[in-house]
Amino acid sequence: MTNVPQNPREEACDEMLVSAAREAMNHAYAPYSRFAVGAAARLSDGSIVTGANFENISYGLSLCAETVAIASVNAAGALADIVAMAVIGGAVGKEGNDGNEPITPCGRCRQIMAEAARVAGRDFPVYCAASDGPARALYRVSDLLPHAFSAAGLARGDSM
Ligand SMILES: [Zn+2]
Repeated sequence: MTNVPQNPREEACDEMLVSAAREAMNHAYAPYSRFAVGAAARLSDGSIVTGANFENISYGLSLCAETVAIASVNAAGALADIVAMAVIGGAVGKEGNDGNEPITPCGRCRQIMAEAARVAGRDFPVYCAASDGPARALYRVSDLLPHAFSAAGLARGDSM
């Protein structure tokens, strides 16, 4: 059974970026969901910035790995430089994280990715990986969030 929409593109996965996301996943602070997620963003200079989910006892204040990674990229002044992202995650098990299906970003993270893609001027690839095994699902940001909310929507609001 799979709950991941199958829209794989015919392009190679950036396995080094997935590995960086996997390393970040190992630093997830996820005592409540017990679901660890790591994310990594590759910048145009080849460097990689990572993030891990960062939960809070209030639950609602928890931050997703993708958002942490993109905010870190922005803090480095490089929001326009993202060329690819990788996301990986799985249930926290006794010996590592478990999950055979690629995970995909939540809706909020998709909107944040859409903002980064707009600033970067590129519909960058998002490599979605499973915690265990080789399963990958490759998307572009526009695949993950077609019809994203955009500045055009704000402009319509301003004219009212
Ligand atoms: Zn998210």
